[in-house]
Amino acid sequence: MLNIENLTVSVDDKTILKGLTLDVPTGEVHAIMGPNGAGKSTLGYTLAGRSNYEVTAGSATLNGEDLLDKDVHERAAAGLYLSFQYPLEIPGVPALTFIRTALNAQRKLRGEDEMSAPEFLKTTREVAKSLKIDMDMLKRPLNVGFSGGEKKRMEVLQMALLKPKFLILDETDSGLDIDALKVVSEGVNALRAPDRGMLVITHYQRLLDHITPDRIHILVDGRIVHSGGPELAHELEANGYDQYLGEAA
Ligand code: ADP
Ligand code: MG
Ligand code: MG
Repeated sequence: MLNIENLTVSVDDKTILKGLTLDVPTGEVHAIMGPNGAGKSTLGYTLAGRSNYEVTAGSATLNGEDLLDKDVHERAAAGLYLSFQYPLEIPGVPALTFIRTALNAQRKLRGEDEMSAPEFLKTTREVAKSLKIDMDMLKRPLNVGFSGGEKKRMEVLQMALLKPKFLILDETDSGLDIDALKVVSEGVNALRAPDRGMLVITHYQRLLDHITPDRIHILVDGRIVHSGGPELAHELEANGYDQYLGEAA
């Protein structure tokens, strides 16, 4: 589903990703773990199409479609969703308005009709309830003054409504207490589907206790240096990343 081949990326003339190769088959959840500064967020930003991330070699395709030559909004329309490590605050735009606008923009790009206001509200109410999000919160400007946990729940709400084909979650666990981690993880698990793939980026093992990945890849210094099953998370928790630093060099 997601195929990344020899991806090499520079930011401000500094090479961050150094020939990264990764395949996530349809229906699978893969995790990327790695030390701070390894290039995990750079991978997410590059796939999502953030400016300043210059691809100097390699390829990335989603269901056979080249991602790298598309604009940000075209990648979203192709079904890619990146959940940021630090979700953006958008003053002046109520969360509900933001989500409905994003949803209808994507439907339009796919040649579908707009979702009616009653249908949108009904669907949103159901998803919000499952994520323990108060509808009053959705009338406030997106993420402004929201707690870390509330922002992450908003991200999961958006994913549940936008129904992307492929999700990238960048450190979704950061800033979450145990209760919020459970609610967010359950929300993410509910999005697992045979026709959807996910890449879960995390520094720590604890998120992977709740979202069990099919595969774990270790990213060190811009490359995948090791891959394994879910048990790899516990091995890393016990032994740390040190043993892999040499492999990167
Ligand atoms: P991770 O998410 O794994 O912690 P990042 O992808 O955020 O790592 O960063 C990888 C490396 O890229 C780090 O060494 C970081 O300092 C560097 N980096 C990130 N943004 C820039 C930038 N704008 N200019 C130069 N270096 C950057
Ligand atoms: Mg980091
Ligand atoms: Mg990061």
